[in-house]
Amino acid sequence: MSIHAEHHAVVGAGLIGGIWSLMLAQRGYKVTLYDRRPDPRKAGVDAGRSINLALSDRGWKAIKKAGVESVVRKIALPVKGRMMHDYAGNQFFQQYGNDEQFIYSVSRGRLNMILVEEAEKHPLVEVKFDHPCSGYSLNNDGLVNVNFKDGRSVVHDRLFGTDGVYSSVRSTMIRNDRFNYTQQYIPHGYKEIIMFPSDSGDYRIAENALHIWPRGQFMFMALPNPGGSFTCTLFAPFEGAESFKNIQSDEDVVKFYQKHFPDTIDMLPNLIEDWNANPVSSMCTVKCCPWNVGGRVALLGDSAHAIVPFYGQGMNSGLEDCSILSELIDELPEGASEEQWESLLDEYSQVRKPAADAILDLALHNYIVMRDKTGDKTYQLQKKIEARIAEAHPDKWKPLYSLVTFSHTPYDEALKRGEMQQAVMNVIMSQSDIETTWESEKIIELAINMLEKYQADPNTLARPKPLLSVDV
Ligand SMILES: Cc1cc2nc3c(=O)[nH]c(=O)nc-3n(C[C@H](O)[C@H](O)[C@H](O)COP(=O)(O)OP(=O)(O)OC[C@H]3O[C@@H](n4cnc5c(N)ncnc54)[C@H](O)[C@@H]3O)c2cc1C
Repeated sequence: MSIHAEHHAVVGAGLIGGIWSLMLAQRGYKVTLYDRRPDPRKAGVDAGRSINLALSDRGWKAIKKAGVESVVRKIALPVKGRMMHDYAGNQFFQQYGNDEQFIYSVSRGRLNMILVEEAEKHPLVEVKFDHPCSGYSLNNDGLVNVNFKDGRSVVHDRLFGTDGVYSSVRSTMIRNDRFNYTQQYIPHGYKEIIMFPSDSGDYRIAENALHIWPRGQFMFMALPNPGGSFTCTLFAPFEGAESFKNIQSDEDVVKFYQKHFPDTIDMLPNLIEDWNANPVSSMCTVKCCPWNVGGRVALLGDSAHAIVPFYGQGMNSGLEDCSILSELIDELPEGASEEQWESLLDEYSQVRKPAADAILDLALHNYIVMRDKTGDKTYQLQKKIEARIAEAHPDKWKPLYSLVTFSHTPYDEALKRGEMQQAVMNVIMSQSDIETTWESEKIIELAINMLEKYQADPNTLARPKPLLSVDV
């Protein structure tokens, strides 16, 4: 590998900034990675909130490319499917994919630390904490001045903004002519509660599952940690009769849990303590376009496309940005010109934007599915039928969840395919005798025939309702 003279800035040492700095250095670029926070090694890894993330195939691809798979594997717990909990305490398991397909539960703090430390080990990467960026400006030579809140400014050849949903890099881009941008909060927030191991040190519920208590307007979720605990998250509306606003006293909290999640009460002896200690956090989506300013500035991860967490794809899609952009850089000739960098970053933005829009819509849609549908008998029957069709015709029928989670099919293609299969399933599920005939071969045949006809002529079936969308 030849070492280039160029010195790039990466602003934001989060999940994406760490791996992206490493990938640039592996391609011979000198990199300074800046973050506004103090060094987390001095603050301690568990300082701050301890959310767990589901890491899946798209994320693993970037992690493998950057050569850090073996260190990440050490903190990744395999999760085979979702376990639904009903009001009576009954549990129903739905496997996510085939027997070899898992998502992985990882601590966000630990993963972030690993990725930044692996970047820092590279001789071409320097990491600077306590550097809050305020934006950038392009100087007369076309180079980038990265500006910091204390008034300092550092010149770099290129700037990659990986500074998350409230990106300072994007805040400068917003002032550019023809830059589109929307940000939208959803009406629900979330609060974290830890489920500690039992007295004997064991997991209190199955460790290889993502647990869901779907309750319409509310949802409680639990993802396993190494060592027997679970990080649980309550999603609920900010406002309304039963909402974060109206659950105020300790008594209100207990009453709310007794009413909606009675089976969790004995498993959460620290419920009140955590409730009072942990904040209610909001969730918002961000869409913007384009993701680059010529060949000099580009956005990756949440700074370019923030989504709600309900498909477990926010980080995974940001990691996919890194895979795709690194593949484009690999095609650059030695001593590439500014025009070549510009067309490369244009291409990156144009390829990724439809994919990011699609996963945003899918994640908003899954918000409804997880809350309202996962506990629903018809939905569960549909999933079982789809699993049978996919098993009989793996080349023709690919469940949407698998396409999103266990494949590298662009999200926009996955969304189109998912809508097509849903149109077929709407007809299948409307058969009056479906509850008794669902295991018959004729159902599989009917589904495949309809799918083939629909692929040839989309007018053969009524299109399913479009998914929720925020347009930019
Ligand atoms: C409740 C919840 C659950 C989630 N679950 C999943 C999941 O299961 N799977 C999944 O794939 N995704 C999940 N996500 C999404 C995931 O957390 C994000 O997509 C991911 O963190 C984005 O990474 P990032 O590096 O782009 O941004 P961040 O991780 O937010 O990192 C941004 C970094 O930039 C720094 N920074 C910010 N501003 C500045 C500034 N002005 N100057 C310098 N530095 C700055 C920050 O300190 C931070 O280090 C979840 C999100 C939430 C909220």
